[in-house]
Amino acid sequence: MQILVQKFGGTSVATLERMEKVRDKVLNGLQRADRIIVVLSARAGDTNNLLALAGQWSPTPDKAECDVLVSTGEQVSISLFTMLLKDMGIRARSLLGSQIPIVTDDSFGCARIRAINSEALRGWLEQYDILVVAGFQGCTEDKRVTTLGRGGSDTSAVALAAALGSVECEIYTDVNGVYTTDPNICSTARKIDRIAYNEMLEMSSMGAKVLHIRSVEFAQKYKVAVRVRSTFDDDPGTLVTQEDSSMEALLVSGIAYDKDQARVTLHDVLDVPGVAAAVFCPLSEKDVLVDMIVQNTSLDGHTDITFTISRRDLQQTLGIMAEISPKIGMSKVVHDVNVAKVSVIGVGIRNHSGVAARAFAALTQEGINILMISTSEIKITILIQEKYVELAVRILHDTFGLDWT
Ligand code: ADP
Ligand code: ASP
Ligand code: MG
Repeated sequence: MQILVQKFGGTSVATLERMEKVRDKVLNGLQRADRIIVVLSARAGDTNNLLALAGQWSPTPDKAECDVLVSTGEQVSISLFTMLLKDMGIRARSLLGSQIPIVTDDSFGCARIRAINSEALRGWLEQYDILVVAGFQGCTEDKRVTTLGRGGSDTSAVALAAALGSVECEIYTDVNGVYTTDPNICSTARKIDRIAYNEMLEMSSMGAKVLHIRSVEFAQKYKVAVRVRSTFDDDPGTLVTQEDSSMEALLVSGIAYDKDQARVTLHDVLDVPGVAAAVFCPLSEKDVLVDMIVQNTSLDGHTDITFTISRRDLQQTLGIMAEISPKIGMSKVVHDVNVAKVSVIGVGIRNHSGVAARAFAALTQEGINILMISTSEIKITILIQEKYVELAVRILHDTFGLDWT
């Protein structure tokens, strides 16, 4: 039995008219495979609205209860879509993550998938031609609802494809593929026909939200080819797959940005062993993901530590810093939420010097101040003020010759 997994994002299911387009794509899929697993996101805006609702009830909403709340967005879209299919006489049913179950760990708000009951799915596929599964959600062993992090429906889809041994997973969204940068902020961005898992991993981890990072990790691990396509046209899209010689060998393959950044600086902490651990261990215990970290050189036995986190973790982080303050002897904590990071990504960076210098020079020419820098083998990441993000992306895209013109 050939099974195809097709995932549709929030804008694709936002209205009845759009869901009808989704239905056409699914019916087309049914001509190419015996059975379809449709994975849906919440309708555009629903997840944000639910999170805002939680914020009205509590300044620091309980993470487990927040998951029970926000996961309802996907419950709405799968039920509505399945109604459309059933009205056409198609054998279909909806499934919540906990009904399958898609078992995760208990990191509420950013849970990781541990197992999927593929046998149960295969059983349902005997009775139904189409299963409509809620993306973004799962449950713990003891049946507590979890969610997989923003954008997590992509991961639900690829994990289902891996569990069912489907060779390709189609991710339908509002752009017709993966571009050299976000086509919505850079009109000269170019569509990439094929991209290697490694490069896609870097793009996603640096903020290109077209694919959730863990979906790419799953795809690479289980060799699932992922095709990113548009719900609204017939373009073949972008294939995310293993690296091969037919792929473009570019110095820089893309520019990514991430506005979900907050910067925290701890001033005058003691420069003694154990301080960094005292800062970062309690954050990791609370599942706060720390992104960039910079420690200054020591002056008079004291130093400053600066790091970035997701904006939604700021209040919790400041609370933890207040608790540990006596232990690390700092004078004050300063934070800034008007920051964003921009990354230059490419496997070619590994073998070339001067890429970072070119990036810094290009930003300097536009008068953009660099707040933090971090580099790895295949990327350069720069933290800047949020108001300059679009400009910085366009400048860097142009500097590294990615424009299609
Ligand atoms: P969905 O709701 O379908 O999951 P998302 O909003 O999560 O859609 O992801 C699609 C969006 O990703 C696009 O609208 C685009 O603005 C953004 N994006 C960021 N970087 C890229 C990129 N390199 N290529 C394509 N789209 C990108
Ligand atoms: N609805 C969730 C979100 O908005 C998951 C997703 O769309 O992938 O983040
Ligand atoms: Mg998405």
